[in-house]
Amino acid sequence: MEYDVIVIGGGPAGMMAAGKAASKGARVLLLEKNDSLGKKLLITGGGRCNVTNNQPDNKLFLKKLPESMKYLFTSFTQWNVTSSLAFFHDRGMETKTENERREFPVSNSAQSVWDVLVAEMKKYNVTIQANSPVTGFALDAEKHISGVKLQNGTVLSAASYILATGGKSHPETGSTGDGFTWLSEIGHKVISTAPSLVPIALSDNWAKKLQGVSLQNVKLSVLQNDTKRETRTGNMLFTHFGVTGPLVLNLSNSVRELLQYGEVMLLLDLLPAMNHKEIDEALQAIYLEQAKKRVKNITTTLLPASVLRAAHKLAGIDIEKNCNDVSKEQRKALVQLIKALPMHVSHLLGLNKAVITSGGVTLDEVNFKTMQSKLFPNLYIVGDVLNINRPSGGYSLQLCWTTGFIAGNSCFTP
Ligand SMILES: Cc1cc2nc3c(=O)[nH]c(=O)nc-3n(C[C@H](O)[C@H](O)[C@H](O)COP(=O)(O)OP(=O)(O)OC[C@H]3O[C@@H](n4cnc5c(N)ncnc54)[C@H](O)[C@@H]3O)c2cc1C
Repeated sequence: MEYDVIVIGGGPAGMMAAGKAASKGARVLLLEKNDSLGKKLLITGGGRCNVTNNQPDNKLFLKKLPESMKYLFTSFTQWNVTSSLAFFHDRGMETKTENERREFPVSNSAQSVWDVLVAEMKKYNVTIQANSPVTGFALDAEKHISGVKLQNGTVLSAASYILATGGKSHPETGSTGDGFTWLSEIGHKVISTAPSLVPIALSDNWAKKLQGVSLQNVKLSVLQNDTKRETRTGNMLFTHFGVTGPLVLNLSNSVRELLQYGEVMLLLDLLPAMNHKEIDEALQAIYLEQAKKRVKNITTTLLPASVLRAAHKLAGIDIEKNCNDVSKEQRKALVQLIKALPMHVSHLLGLNKAVITSGGVTLDEVNFKTMQSKLFPNLYIVGDVLNINRPSGGYSLQLCWTTGFIAGNSCFTP
């Protein structure tokens, strides 16, 4: 055999695994269907790549992944956030911590992460074969994996195979769920995939008109039948279709579940740090100070001007009027809206806009000490192919680093 290990998929998990296996002396072949590696990696974090979530305590990190926590403890004792940061720092990529412990390269560029992974593979002589779509596994008479089939008809064999073909989100980057199909074909249980962490489309035109406006530290609740189902605080962004940003993405799973049962609303608290009375007093002070100004021309640091104008309109206040013409009742209605601005969910955006897909190979069928399939001992499964639900904030890539490292480390014994 020409190779000890074949890695299928050149995303972050596959690159990490390939580099690690090769560093132990394995002859590694990495097969990638695109003409270049890591297309999705390069668009992560808006091109800046939120490389991990800087929570070095494994328990606290894994608390954010409650359904998969029990599987991942054993993996995180081998490779955790501290290991990932040391890996990148030791290779000259400095990082910085932003809000909610999100870690980014100091360069503000996903390219820096890509460079480290590719340099590591080059250092240990990984053979990279781009433009090589894999079409499935070849099985021998005993139903063991004996090779991978390429689109051109060739079958390539190695002692071990690492499956790193990703999920289904942003299929234009190459992640089209091929691995899910192959795993199902050979008898693995694959939980059906759905977009997860997606932006939310609204039916409110006023919200769409706020396109481009971002809000920091606001509170957003998901409501059905007047009952609050989930509330979170964070940052969001208005877009031409509705809302997005970390706060919105993290609520999108709740919205998806609730949409099965009926209408869903979002309630936005624009100033969660202030109570009704404090906001009322702040507004009174603004109206008094700018009494002769039109409402639409108010200047304040309380809220972005466009948001304040929209809230006035929703409260039924004519923004062409002067501030001293706003009645007490109108002001009270405005305060009410600032604390609980209703937005109506139209639908969730699809796979093409999802950050991750939920679903994947069921975790019971994987040994998390080695990332080995429990059905096929020479198959290792890593990254987004695994059925791990996680929030946004660097968790997905940390899972790639952990599972990629472990697979690379265990698939070859020198
Ligand atoms: C817009 C966006 C922003 C994101 N931002 C962040 C972020 O900031 N932080 C974070 O932690 N996570 C982020 N994520 C999630 C993160 O990108 C994924 O979790 C991660 O890329 C998964 O890595 P992977 O290696 O498992 O799979 P992928 O990155 O999907 O890579 C899979 C690779 O396999 C190749 N492949 C697929 N099928 C075949 C085949 N048949 N033959 C050969 N090759 C094949 C693909 O072409 C691809 O190169 C973001 C995702 C998106 C879409």
